[in-house]
Amino acid sequence: MNINQLTAREILDLIEKKKASPGEVYDSVLRQVKAADKEIHAYVRVHDAAGANSAGSPSVPVPIGIKDNICVTGVETTCCSRILQGFKPPYDATVIRKLKATGAVFVGTTNMDEFAFGSSTENSCYGPTRNPWDRSRVPGGSSGGSAAAVAGHEAIWALGSDTGGSIRQPAAFCGVVGLKPTYGRVSRYGLIAFASSLDQIGPITKDVTDSALLLGIIAGYDEYDSTSADVPVPDYTRALVNDVKGLRIGIPKEYFVEGIEAQVKRAVMASIDVLKKCGAVFEEVSLPHTEYAIAAYYIVATAEASSNLARYDGVQYGLRRQPKEERKSPLIDMYEETRDLGFGPEAKRRIMLGTYSLSSGYYDDYYLKGLKVRTLIKQDFDNVFRKCDAILTPTAPTTAFKIGEKSDDPLSMYLSDVYTISANLSGIPAISVPCGFSTEGLPVGLQVLAKPFAEETLFRVAYTYEQNTPWHKKRASL
Ligand code: GLN
Repeated sequence: MNINQLTAREILDLIEKKKASPGEVYDSVLRQVKAADKEIHAYVRVHDAAGANSAGSPSVPVPIGIKDNICVTGVETTCCSRILQGFKPPYDATVIRKLKATGAVFVGTTNMDEFAFGSSTENSCYGPTRNPWDRSRVPGGSSGGSAAAVAGHEAIWALGSDTGGSIRQPAAFCGVVGLKPTYGRVSRYGLIAFASSLDQIGPITKDVTDSALLLGIIAGYDEYDSTSADVPVPDYTRALVNDVKGLRIGIPKEYFVEGIEAQVKRAVMASIDVLKKCGAVFEEVSLPHTEYAIAAYYIVATAEASSNLARYDGVQYGLRRQPKEERKSPLIDMYEETRDLGFGPEAKRRIMLGTYSLSSGYYDDYYLKGLKVRTLIKQDFDNVFRKCDAILTPTAPTTAFKIGEKSDDPLSMYLSDVYTISANLSGIPAISVPCGFSTEGLPVGLQVLAKPFAEETLFRVAYTYEQNTPWHKKRASL
């Protein structure tokens, strides 16, 4: 097998045994980027070798792709939006600083939906990314470039961000592992904000072992992010045990009703049998407020997005445009022209939705009600976790859809987040692991959820599942 198809754990073992050098590993990944990325378009910027090698002692010299909303000093960072064109952050995000200290190698910046608004990576000002398993299909989103880079052997690891499913859903569509950590587990310092009460950075990897390794590097308290939690970071690799005996796992009955593709349901049901054979104890549970999750999410997330995006006015960051003729006043004209040219249609839709629900007269009916529903959704999880250690669900109701299939129907696009957004609304951690393929050869994702800061439970369940199934060893042929 080509080096670029190995996991980081396997690569680090080879390096330790002097069977491969960090330079060979990087070259192998870069070769694949050159061969495959014209078609896949996982990257919007590829660094040259000199710029790629970070400082620090190279204890973990793993080639990694970074989503275009995580700040790297001096590297153009745009959230795949025209409005940030030319913006080069003067500082590193905390996760980048931590990765540099381990000697990680930055391959490039990965494609995403503009400002992470989307589930398909089609809302990027640079054009869509293609799914390595079927190039006529989307990779999911918004971290579609990161997931496609890992699935297409164009990176060994990637970082994504997850506000409503943007790590887990693309991981499911691309047949890789994606983890959204507990809110506060990973510093958001240097992550360009979408919805600050929901956003988390997390790992996209080929298997669960690598997910534990990468989370161990990026997790932890950070004085620069007041929402980061001062909770010690365990050695996550210790949770990689092939044993779920006696673990109590809930299956929410609301997650297996309408809208779910038969093949997805079948794969997830089969995974329950695998874990049952390994000794896990299953029971049906109820998350009764699930049906309001999408509505609450699209109120809360757009409200926060509309205020976070207010800072892009042409004054401080990126794009600035002045209309040819004066309309109101030079300053107001500049704001309007810059925002009109700079934001794509989905960003404008979200700014309008969010501004509406925050405006006086509508605030109580929409925003405040959204927050109340959010609390109810969180209480549903609290209730289930009183008797269960974990919850198992599909990651997404369908496998990867065709490019263009949902672009004219925002509502049907929003529905693809139905299983992922509740974890963000309630702050709990969740992982997606490959659990099979459809008859068309498209990957299916299994989601495991656990209590706040119980990432170790996620790893234990996901690792056991992985050790007893073949899916994580499958590689897209490119
Ligand atoms: N698809 C969801 C949205 O469009 C989630 C995106 C995300 O997690 N960044 O809001």
